[in-house]
Amino acid sequence: MKITIIGTGYVGLVTGACLAELGNDVFCLDLDAQKVALLNSGGIPIHEPGLEEVVARNRAAGRMTFSTDVEAAAAHGVMQFIAVGTPPDEDGSADLQYVLAAARGIGKYMTDFKVIVDKSTVPVGTAEKVRAAIQGELDARGVAATFSVASNPEFLKEGAAVEDFMRPDRIVIGVDATPDGESARELLKSLYAPFNRNHERTYWMDVRSAEFTKYAANAMLATRISFMNELANLADKVGVDIEAVRHGIGSDPRIGHSFLYAGCGYGGSCFPKDVQALERTARGHGQELLILRAVEAVNDQQKQVLGRKVVTRFGEDLTGRHFAVWGLAFKPNTDDMREASARVLLADLLGRGATVAVYDPVAMAEARRVLQLDLTPEQLAKVRFADSSKDALQDADALVIVTEWKAFRSPDFEQVKARLKQAVIFDGRNLFEPAVMAENGIEYHGIGRSILT
Ligand code: NAD
Repeated sequence: MKITIIGTGYVGLVTGACLAELGNDVFCLDLDAQKVALLNSGGIPIHEPGLEEVVARNRAAGRMTFSTDVEAAAAHGVMQFIAVGTPPDEDGSADLQYVLAAARGIGKYMTDFKVIVDKSTVPVGTAEKVRAAIQGELDARGVAATFSVASNPEFLKEGAAVEDFMRPDRIVIGVDATPDGESARELLKSLYAPFNRNHERTYWMDVRSAEFTKYAANAMLATRISFMNELANLADKVGVDIEAVRHGIGSDPRIGHSFLYAGCGYGGSCFPKDVQALERTARGHGQELLILRAVEAVNDQQKQVLGRKVVTRFGEDLTGRHFAVWGLAFKPNTDDMREASARVLLADLLGRGATVAVYDPVAMAEARRVLQLDLTPEQLAKVRFADSSKDALQDADALVIVTEWKAFRSPDFEQVKARLKQAVIFDGRNLFEPAVMAENGIEYHGIGRSILT
C-alpha cells in the first residue's frame, strides 16, 4: 500500500519504518531539511533500539523515501499519517500549529480521495479542525476531492518503540460513521491486518473517543507513578520499604505490577504534556480534573526529591562539593531529555554551588545541547561530561542515580567506593537493596526505603 507519513520524529520514523517492513511503500515527509538529509545519507536522528537496521533495510529495498517535498508527499499515499509534534502551548493546551500545517499541506495538493490519519496525540475535536483545514484548501483551489479523517493514536514507548509497534497490545482506531469513514475503515483494516493475525487487537470506535483514549491512557499511567511517589515519601517518614509495598499490592490482579515504581519523577515528551493538555481540555468545558492536578503537582515536587535528599545530607550550600550523576535521559534506552528529572537535579546542584560529573550511555550529545539551554555559562563550566560511569565517580562526594539504565544495575561496589571520596549513593530509581548497600559499607538513600532498624 502507498503511505505517506508526515513528521519523522520518534513516532513518524518508527511508524514509517515498521509499515515499510511489512511491505508497504512509505514516503516520509519532514520540513527539517537537515533531518531528511541525514536520513537520506543512511543516518538516524534518534537513538531507538533496532530502528537503524529496519530503516536501512527498507531504504535499500526502495520501500522508504525521505523528502521535504510536500506536493510529492500529498500525491504519494492514499493514507496520509500525521505524526508531527503537539507540544504544550503556553497555557498547557496542545499546540496544534504543526498538525494543522500538515493538514493544509495535504489539502493544498491532493487531487483524489485520501484518508488522513491523526497519529499525533491530539485533543478531542482535532479531527474536525484537520477536516476544516483541508476543506479550506480544497475550496480555495476549487477542487472537489473527498477525504476522511481518522484517529489512530500511538501507544509505543520510547526505548522499545520498534518492538511496541510490531507487537502492539492494542490498536485504537476512530472513524466516522459515513461512507468515506467506511472507506477509511476498510483501508486501515487491511493496513493493520498483519497485526491481527493471531487475534483481533483493533478497537474500533468513533473519532472523538479514540482521541480521548490516548490521553486517558497516559493520564492513568502518570497517576500510578505519582500515587506511588507520594506514598514513597510517606514511607521514608514512617520507616516503610516502598519496594516491599509495591510487591504486596502489585500481586493483586486488580492492581497489577506495572507502573508502580517509586522514583525521582516522570519526564519525557508525553506524560507531562498530555496530563496538562487533558486538564486544559476539561477547564475549557468548566471542569477541573482534581486528580490530575494533584498528579502533576506531586510529580513537580518529586523531580526535586534527589536535590532535597542531597541538601538534607550535605547542607543548603554545596560550594566545594562534587557529585557524580549517572543517567541523564528521561528513561533508559533513549537519548530523549525532554522534561528529564536530571535537568531539575543538575540545575539544583549547580545553583547551590556544586560541581558535577555526568554520564549517560547514549544521551551525552543531547545533554550537551539541552544543558546549554538550561544553565548559565558559569554553571555549564562546572559540568564535566565523563567518558564512562566509572570515570564520573572520581573524587565525588556522592553518586546520584537518575536513570535506571541496565548498565548501572550491577556495578563493582568496591570500585565505586574506591573512586568516590565518600561512599554515599542517592538512588533515584531504587536500583539497589538497602541491605546490600549496608553490607558494602555504603551510605544509601533510596526513594521510600528508609526502613527503621
Ligand atoms: P518529534 O518532535 O520527535 O517529531 C516531530 C517531527 O515532525 C519533527 O521531525 C518535525 O520536524 C516534524 N514536523 C513538524 N511539522 C511538520 C510538518 N508540517 N510537515 C512535516 N514534518 C513536520 O515528535 P514525536 O515524539 O514523534 O511525537 C509526535 C506525536 O506523537 C506527538 O503528538 C506525541 O505526543 C505523540 N506520541 C509520542 C510518543 C513518543 O514516545 N515520543 C508516543 C506516542 C505518541
